[in-house]
Amino acid sequence: MSYTNCGHCLHSSIDLQGDQTAGKMVCRRYPPVAVPVTVPTATGVSIQIVPVFPPVTDAQRCGEFAAAGVKIPGTGRTDN
Ligand code: SF4
Repeated sequence: MSYTNCGHCLHSSIDLQGDQTAGKMVCRRYPPVAVPVTVPTATGVSIQIVPVFPPVTDAQRCGEFAAAGVKIPGTGRTDN
């Protein structure tokens, strides 16, 4: 098991608000990115620009990883 992935990164969190990412793990290392979303209207569809933090999974990792100070079971050490 890796302790150097998004699931143990200081910058990850569960998004509680976003329509596209609510309940999912997101990366908050940088500000949200603008994502175009189609929205139904009475005359067709329109496109709205929505700010979204990038969704990530527990198995992913990038070069910006920063340990959240999680204890490694059985070692007494943190993962940084
Ligand atoms: S994408 Fe990088 S910075 Fe963001 S949570 Fe994952 S490891 Fe951390």
